[in-house]
Amino acid sequence: MTERPAAQVLSGPPAAAALLDEASRRAARLPRPPHLALVRVGEDPASVSYVRGKAKKAAEVGLSSHVHALPEATPQAELLALVAALSADPAVDGILVQLPLPAHLDPEPVLRAVDPAKDVDGLHPANTGALWNGHEGLRPCTPAGIMALLAHHGVSVRGQRAVVVGRSALVGRPVAGLLLNADATVTLAHRATPDLGAVTREADVLIVAAGQAHLITPDMVRPGATVVDVGINRVPTGDGRERLTGDVHPDVAQVAGALTPVPGGVGPMTVAQLLMNTVIAAERQHALMPEG
Ligand code: NDP
Repeated sequence: MTERPAAQVLSGPPAAAALLDEASRRAARLPRPPHLALVRVGEDPASVSYVRGKAKKAAEVGLSSHVHALPEATPQAELLALVAALSADPAVDGILVQLPLPAHLDPEPVLRAVDPAKDVDGLHPANTGALWNGHEGLRPCTPAGIMALLAHHGVSVRGQRAVVVGRSALVGRPVAGLLLNADATVTLAHRATPDLGAVTREADVLIVAAGQAHLITPDMVRPGATVVDVGINRVPTGDGRERLTGDVHPDVAQVAGALTPVPGGVGPMTVAQLLMNTVIAAERQHALMPEG
């Protein structure tokens, strides 16, 4: 194998910038800036950093946001009461509860307490059901971001054979639903799938969200296929440090027609889609108001 990648690089930053630009333009047309409520419990460093990044990006595109930072020991009832209050507050357009929650808190009732019309993470059962039925609703951010990334780079999935590796509620299942809604023929693979390579080799569009570094090797990819690598894995570099790598082996670039890099592929799309979802939620809320 040569070292020079052959596949078209499906770069995330320009696609994310286009999505943010659209969110910004649409936000500016509303009577007031869309408001995103960010709920964080505890001081998990990754969660603190993610929530800070979301608030910063929101401000950059003209959205208002507020971080509701609750102490680590917050009881379930208190968190539920906050989410219920935000759901009832007409000044709030979008609500995001940063996961994971501390171990003593059950995320399921919390996600269900979010008004589905403000569920910018798209994880409420009303929204996941709407997705699978092909009805209007708010879509989970990473899967919707993947679709926006493909569209930005001119990849149409209509009539294509799509294979999704991974069936999580966060990525695998919803991206399969979105691909189906976009007229792909979809297969979902997981740990119990025998001969994974035989399944992935059928894909015109292969989406990999397994969380296993370099799970997909060149022999598992159909020549010319479009490959979306969702995985974010931290692997030791040997000098005591870590680097980020995807679920797709770099040599797949020699076989695939197009490939998302890690980092710099799907990653930037997630926050951009969150802000787009907040704008969509605000647009729908304003459309329902009598003054229109
Ligand atoms: P989960 O661990 O929740 O799900 C992983 C899925 O992959 C499971 O369905 C599992 O199957 C399947 N899987 C794991 N190993 C194999 C294997 N060897 N063969 C076949 N299937 C396998 O992970 P998430 O969906 O939350 O995340 C997946 C990856 O995407 C992670 O690396 C995560 O960090 C990354 N991610 C990136 C985001 C971004 O913004 N770029 C956002 C969200 C996630 P089974 O169900 O049978 O156990």
